[in-house]
Amino acid sequence: MQLSVAFTSKKRIKVEVKGLVQGVGFRPFVYNLARKCNLNGFVLNSGAGVTLEVEGIMQNIDTFMELFSKNNPPLSKIDALSVNDIELQNDTSFEILNSVQNSITTIVAADTALCADCEAEMQDKNNRRYLYPFINCTNCGPRYSIINKLPYDRKNTSMHKFTMCKKCEKEYNDPTNRRYHAQPISCYDCGPKLKFINLKNDNIIDLQESITSTCKMIKEGKTVAIKGIGGFHLVCDARNDDAVAALRLSKDRPLKPFAIMFKNLAAIEEVAYLTQKDRALLLSQPRPIVIVQKKQTNILSDLVAPGLDRIGVLLAYTPLHHLILEELNHPIVATSANMSDEPIMKTEQEIVSKLSLLTKYILTFDRDILNACDDSLATNLESQTLFLRLARGYTPKNFIFKKETKKKVLAVGANQKNTISLAFDNYIVSSPHIGDLNSIEAFEYFLETVNTFKRFYNFEPDIIVCDKHPNYETTKWAKALQTKSSAIELIQLQHHYAHALACMAEYNLDEEVLAFCFDGTGYGDDGSLWGGEVLIADAHAYERVYSFKEMKLLGSEKAIKNPKRIALALLFELYTLEEVLELQLPLLNAFSSQEIKSYHILYSKNINSVATSSVGRLFDALFAFMGNIDEISFEGQSGLQMEVNAANSTTKEVYSYAIEGKIINYDAMIKELVHDNKDIAMKFINTLAKIVVEISDKHATLAVVLCGGVFQNKLLCNRVISLLHEKKRQYYIQENTPVNDGSISLGQAYYALNNR
Ligand code: ZN
Ligand code: ZN
Ligand code: FE
Repeated sequence: MQLSVAFTSKKRIKVEVKGLVQGVGFRPFVYNLARKCNLNGFVLNSGAGVTLEVEGIMQNIDTFMELFSKNNPPLSKIDALSVNDIELQNDTSFEILNSVQNSITTIVAADTALCADCEAEMQDKNNRRYLYPFINCTNCGPRYSIINKLPYDRKNTSMHKFTMCKKCEKEYNDPTNRRYHAQPISCYDCGPKLKFINLKNDNIIDLQESITSTCKMIKEGKTVAIKGIGGFHLVCDARNDDAVAALRLSKDRPLKPFAIMFKNLAAIEEVAYLTQKDRALLLSQPRPIVIVQKKQTNILSDLVAPGLDRIGVLLAYTPLHHLILEELNHPIVATSANMSDEPIMKTEQEIVSKLSLLTKYILTFDRDILNACDDSLATNLESQTLFLRLARGYTPKNFIFKKETKKKVLAVGANQKNTISLAFDNYIVSSPHIGDLNSIEAFEYFLETVNTFKRFYNFEPDIIVCDKHPNYETTKWAKALQTKSSAIELIQLQHHYAHALACMAEYNLDEEVLAFCFDGTGYGDDGSLWGGEVLIADAHAYERVYSFKEMKLLGSEKAIKNPKRIALALLFELYTLEEVLELQLPLLNAFSSQEIKSYHILYSKNINSVATSSVGRLFDALFAFMGNIDEISFEGQSGLQMEVNAANSTTKEVYSYAIEGKIINYDAMIKELVHDNKDIAMKFINTLAKIVVEISDKHATLAVVLCGGVFQNKLLCNRVISLLHEKKRQYYIQENTPVNDGSISLGQAYYALNNR
């Protein structure tokens, strides 16, 4: 008797949900579930997330909560949930109420690829959105790239200028419809319009025919600029040598691999070997570019990734891509529309004014991209995924911590692969990849992103965290800002410590770790360039316990593009000038004896040469010793090509080295490899892995952190991980954020969160 009273008695609960719950179909999900369970009450978007109250008989509330926790909408992510009993209100219906705004910040969702339901509708002749290039729903479509400010309502997006037709409006307002409150909802009658522009004859072709015109140009070997979600791609036939060569020439990008877009997985498997992990990553909602093993013979032009054994592939992710690839029926190069390393372009005006020599054809539409966002880039190791660039589909990237800060923190990142991060309350939010801040365009994009994030999160920083490098644009900007407003606290954080902290942030670590920071270069506490560091660090402080022996960059930064100079300096370290002139090395063919003598003067008098402990530069030097004496064409080239070289080797051999106090001395290695001509790349990688293990053994109680751009090298990563695994060592390497400078801002923000 008592029991049935309990079961039939009524109660009301209030549920508060924090996390990624706005703009992802959360309210209709709650609405439909509440009605299914016969409950009354309401749901609304609140500043902090979603708030709902339901009342009804207890048993129904239990069922509701059970289903609630099981079946969240696919794009949602709950960070925190609170449930409280409250007083009955005797509501007679369940309603979706208007958003209430308060000061607390909500989360901006990332852009999402076309979902399977929408794809099916797009292929359905009887659907009113048959072949519609802008089809989307609550579970898919643009988000971050079209948002001007929060809350995420249509009027705050670039869809505000399109007035919904009656049919769309009905779907938008119907909580049982899968487009309920899908802000970018549209159709042929009311949505954005496609436009094909031919700059050669000033011809503009509208609508469906514009796709036909685009495909015709691609078939003819032309490059077409095509508008995507976060910016334009430059697209050409990936099988056509002449087309790819022309694109390389005009983009001034001789060797750096191009990403290739395919219509489905089967098309990728024709040209590449995919692992189960690769397939899953390619098909995942963010649809990143995944670097995979290329098949020896395939239909692609060799020029898409010259000299490499792997290629970057991705699947069509917008409805427009699907329509184009369906019509073409062959893979396309889809590289970001920009000049060399400038930011991705997001307007047709930019294409016309800056790329008109590169392409005369533009496929565009009138839904504006408010926030540019590049494609994300990842690769799979044996044990995990490694991100090389985090952008479309993943960002803004949110992290939640136990630790809280009362301050508002802006972390401005590094100079290359720049990103920014905000820290507030117990959150960190990281921006998409912004890029290398070497051009005015890139720096403007940085400033724009800072402003966008300040607007999104209603944010004026109390603290700015930047790098220690005095010449980073971000450091200069941060210092200038602090000069103007002395209320702002400025924290300058050492680059490699920030690398370690980024990994600690991802795994929510604050205990002491042993961090191997193998990197390009970063400004050291002593003013030299660091990059081969072993730190003992926690979330508050660090100590540099080992570092690689310094080498000289002859001609300073110029040596980074010319690794043969680094290699030469390593020889000067070990041999007299006369001995060097006597050596028989492919490297030395790159210099006349007069040049060698001149460089020796620079070296011995320390003119225009800086010292660095960078492992990245050591990779470059080894690459030069192997006979590769040309200028480096893109960052990471030597590592990639050494992997190609090492891939066929199974040797377990290592070179000699010595750990002398705090210095990792590799003189013996250089002496050995000067007289070696076999498996140099693999032996070098084995040596680095052995160094990691030997040092870890000396600090057996500490968990190991592996960070820095050098760990993008798959062979090295796999080798180190398998050795640490054999030894049953606890190790961490970033799996959801880049190991490279893309995560510097995350590390900087994590430091502030833990210390202020
Ligand atoms: Zn959809
Ligand atoms: Zn419509
Ligand atoms: Fe770095």
